Amino acid sequence: MRIVLLQQSIYEQKADAAALAQALAAPHIRFGDLMRSHLVRRTGLGARAAAVMNSGEPFPDEIATAILRDTFDSTAPAAFLLGGHPRSTTQARALDDLLHECGAPLDGVLYLRLPEDEVERRIRQQAARRLCRNDLTHRYEPPADPLAAGRHCTVCGGELYQRKDDDEDVIRSRYRTHEAIVEPVARHYADRSLLTAVEAVGTPDEVAARAVAALGGRAS
Ligand SMILES: [Zn+2]
Repeated sequence: MRIVLLQQSIYEQKADAAALAQALAAPHIRFGDLMRSHLVRRTGLGARAAAVMNSGEPFPDEIATAILRDTFDSTAPAAFLLGGHPRSTTQARALDDLLHECGAPLDGVLYLRLPEDEVERRIRQQAARRLCRNDLTHRYEPPADPLAAGRHCTVCGGELYQRKDDDEDVIRSRYRTHEAIVEPVARHYADRSLLTAVEAVGTPDEVAARAVAALGGRAS
């Protein structure tokens, strides 16, 4: 199956996407990886992408689409799970055209969503996380009772601190920005009867099983 994956930004997306790609037996294509490959290989597209990224301007639809065109290169992929793209309705229309030219239209678009109260809970949980001063990979997950929150890393005993950009308001605003990008893309596919929305609550395997069941009727 050829599936576009839309995700909210507030949970461990990679684990869900990886489990889903495996359950669908579809290669997981991540836009970020495609772009990094152009940057590493110093291609013309990579140079243009780097210039934009350094300028802080929004990533242009035209470059994003060119990266996808370069990837599919007129072949018809039998199966894929595409994440991180499209990021606008212009990109979505360009992707529709590209896949149509390849004779390989999308079978569906999966939107992994969380209920509002779960989004709020994860925002607060993420903001309450501490990092170890000794090693940034030692994350501290706070217990449900905030009074019981520890001050030392459970891995190495190092002092814990909170990053400034882990502030609740910062995380909430980052989340809203991401939603504002994804929602119009979701509507684009809903209008074409391609959208399947699934609750992303549970383990990655549970989410993947629910998603596969929901996508079942779309197999080509
Ligand atoms: Zn530590």
